[in-house]
Amino acid sequence: PPTVGALLAAGGHSFSFEFFPPKTDDGERLLWQAIRELEGLRPTFVSVTYGAGGSTRDRTVRITQRIAEETTLLPMGHLTCVGSSVAELRSVIGSYADAGVRNVLALRGDPPGGPGSPWEQHPEGLAHADELVTLVRSLGDFSVGVAAFPERHPESASLDDDARVLLAKQEAGAEFAVTQMFFEASHYFAMIERARALGCTIPVLPGIMPLTNINQLERFAILSGTAFPDDLAARFRAVADDPDAVHALGVEAASDLCQELLDGGAPGLHFFTLNRSTSAREIYTGLGLGASASA
Ligand code: FAD
Repeated sequence: PPTVGALLAAGGHSFSFEFFPPKTDDGERLLWQAIRELEGLRPTFVSVTYGAGGSTRDRTVRITQRIAEETTLLPMGHLTCVGSSVAELRSVIGSYADAGVRNVLALRGDPPGGPGSPWEQHPEGLAHADELVTLVRSLGDFSVGVAAFPERHPESASLDDDARVLLAKQEAGAEFAVTQMFFEASHYFAMIERARALGCTIPVLPGIMPLTNINQLERFAILSGTAFPDDLAARFRAVADDPDAVHALGVEAASDLCQELLDGGAPGLHFFTLNRSTSAREIYTGLGLGASASA
């Protein structure tokens, strides 16, 4: 199969869905239900996250392997530097290769103490994602993606620093990037402009988080430092007691954001699904995307 990097380089819009490795059998059943329901939309690729502190290593590899073997989908596995020596990272990368997974999202990971605590690299590990990109690329024929931050990485001094880091990751061999969630298209376009001005040419897929319950709104806004537009927050609060109305508003707001991003030249959309297919499917079909997917 082609790689994510090659599919993006070929042009056309890319559409992808992100899942996380569940902890329970019930969670696993819901995940596979979501994967099967989204498979019919023929996304360009799907990705599986890597738990904080490397806690889901085996599950992440196993799920990507099963996607490669049992579905028509193209899997991408995430990988972080947290809590692993270089030898251990090599071994996980080897497991991806053995599992038939050629697409890797190379991340540093959040500090082991949680976001906001100081970052400490493993004594025999890597300090930054650009080093992981170099390592993965050195170990085989992998297509490597990286993270990008429209509203500044919490540890970065400035938005320009983030642009320089993205360029460093491209120079290390990253073929594409996926962004942190955001709710205003202007943040994405301004980030692209800063990165392009420095010579960053890789496609950057906007990460889309459809908010469909009111708790998510409070939790994500606080956790990620992502700006949530006041007028939209007010619209959510106005219907807070009506779960169906909150869901409908979440789908509408995410659809509007997606349309603005595509109209403005974004190379595709990457949906954080939280292992549920409903809102992603509603947005996807509402935008009439199915027919234009590139894979
Ligand atoms: P880096 O690029 O290393 O950047 C981290 C910080 O170091 C930044 O402040 C940057 O400015 C600075 N920096 C980078 N390189 C250098 C350098 N060479 N010299 C000096 N400073 C530098 N986390 C998980 O644990 N598992 C996941 O599966 C996961 N998936 C994600 C998917 C997406 C799309 C995104 C956007 C994030 C994801 N994360 C995941 C979270 C990510 O691990 C954190 O945001 C982490 O804090 C930063 O990762 P990074 O790869 O951007 O790190």
